[in-house]
Amino acid sequence: MLSIKDRLSEIFINNKLITEGQLDQALKAQAGRGGKLSDIIVELKFIKQAQLSDTLSKSLALPLFDLKCFKIDSDIVKIIPADIARLYQIIPLSKEGDSINLAMTDPLNILAIHSLREFRGLKLNPIISSFQDINQAIDLYYSAAAKVNIDNLVRELISSIEIVKRKKEVFFSEQELERISREAPAIKATNMVLEEAIKKKASEVLIEPLDNKLRIRFRIDGLLQEQDVFPMDMHAPIVSRIKVMAELDIAEHGIPQDGCFKTNILGRQVDFNIFILPTSYGEKAALRILDKAQVSLDIKELGFSDYCLGILARVSCLSHGMILVCGPAGSGKTITLYAVLKSLNSLDKNIVTIEDPVEFQLEGVNQVTVKPEIGFSFAAGMRSTLLQDPNIIMIGEIPDYETVDIAIKSALTGHLVFSTLQATTAAGAVSQLVNMGVEPYLINSSLVCVMAQRLLRKVCPYCKEAYTLNKEAAANLKLDVHKINKLQFYKAKGCRYCFNTGYSGRTVIAEVLQFSHKIHELILNRAEEYSIKQQARLEGMQTLREAGWGVVLKGQTTIEEVLRVSAPD
Ligand SMILES: [Zn+2]
Repeated sequence: MLSIKDRLSEIFINNKLITEGQLDQALKAQAGRGGKLSDIIVELKFIKQAQLSDTLSKSLALPLFDLKCFKIDSDIVKIIPADIARLYQIIPLSKEGDSINLAMTDPLNILAIHSLREFRGLKLNPIISSFQDINQAIDLYYSAAAKVNIDNLVRELISSIEIVKRKKEVFFSEQELERISREAPAIKATNMVLEEAIKKKASEVLIEPLDNKLRIRFRIDGLLQEQDVFPMDMHAPIVSRIKVMAELDIAEHGIPQDGCFKTNILGRQVDFNIFILPTSYGEKAALRILDKAQVSLDIKELGFSDYCLGILARVSCLSHGMILVCGPAGSGKTITLYAVLKSLNSLDKNIVTIEDPVEFQLEGVNQVTVKPEIGFSFAAGMRSTLLQDPNIIMIGEIPDYETVDIAIKSALTGHLVFSTLQATTAAGAVSQLVNMGVEPYLINSSLVCVMAQRLLRKVCPYCKEAYTLNKEAAANLKLDVHKINKLQFYKAKGCRYCFNTGYSGRTVIAEVLQFSHKIHELILNRAEEYSIKQQARLEGMQTLREAGWGVVLKGQTTIEEVLRVSAPD
């Protein structure tokens, strides 16, 4: 009989999924660091996860089960603990006598099968499901189980703290706060909130004391959503715990404080930036989440059109000049610049960033955090940086004339300068520079391209609902209906996979202003934003709204979402 390893190898080779050479490479990697052969082959990008599930299903004559359409009973989920489910990528589906039907990504995962048999003495019927389906199901069902636990935890926490109530106010001494923040219930409650935020891919957690309750909100795909409402008694333990983690002053309640901490959640390190603000009902905590596993810094994966990628690639190769990315806060400007810098990073280039604060560490790039409170401003950071004569400089933002003046001079003297501006459109950024006091001729000689961008939520593929739009309605929206045969669009509905929001994940849309002779002339004459935009459109610039319609026509978002994030042309 063939061993598992040989059986897998045979399946991969017979199906021409990988070559003998690739198999050797994967086996060597496995001998070096252990792990499952199937995982390693996917990790090395020899095959895709979906291909693997499909081939295993056909070769082993086991059905490929669509988990999305199946509801698992909560008593069945409890048969296997969350950590084991995550470790082996499995989830129990149903039970018949002493055997369970078990969805797995890889039924040849002998380790999982052995350990479960020893664990509960169960008979296992393996069923294949895709990696993505199983992971979503694990997130969904095990977080529902955690939700039940949190109610018990709230009770435990409240009974564990001795509340000294004075004139209806909850008052704690510094020693009491110190004690509470280090006790298990406060730690558990805080961890549970943070873990839930990571599972839901939130970018921010707000912990807000209201009149008589504590509200927890998550920012998911750019929008705030209420996550939980706790009794007010939870406020002091959770906020104190967060302050202890970020090494802030837990006895101070009257002034804003900020800090950061790193912690391990769901098996990976996640960074948090903390902002504490005193409000009339007590301290509000905002936690900004920097989860590297959720952010791709690959410029090709952010969602830019081939047209935008082409322009970005071209201007990034220049030896000098200024490139601006603009958009409101939360429109993904910094991630775009990080991704560009990452693509440009090589041993022969000196790249420096000046930021407030540094959001992600980029390997091989010197990143500087400004400290305006001690006089180390963006402008001061630029001056110090220029002494080291870098090839490429990224300035996190341009707060004032002094900074833009140094940035432009650097761009004119042999440096490639990237920065962001909080303008809403590409043409608007040019007007903003003029309003800041920059001479139009300097804009013309330094600026090589301005890109305005937005993040657009993608409609959830599991629950999106198709509908057709009549021609007049489409024409009213200025949709280019000639590009498609059928006016089929999608509505966001909401299901358990998108946490009832109807959307899942985001993509980028952008408009890129390039500088023709005519546009230079308009800038010299201090023309209005509107005239610059109209000329750019005549020369072929696609606006943010038009880029949004492109995503709608691909079936990836809704008309409502495009109307929400982009202004009419
Ligand atoms: Zn959905």
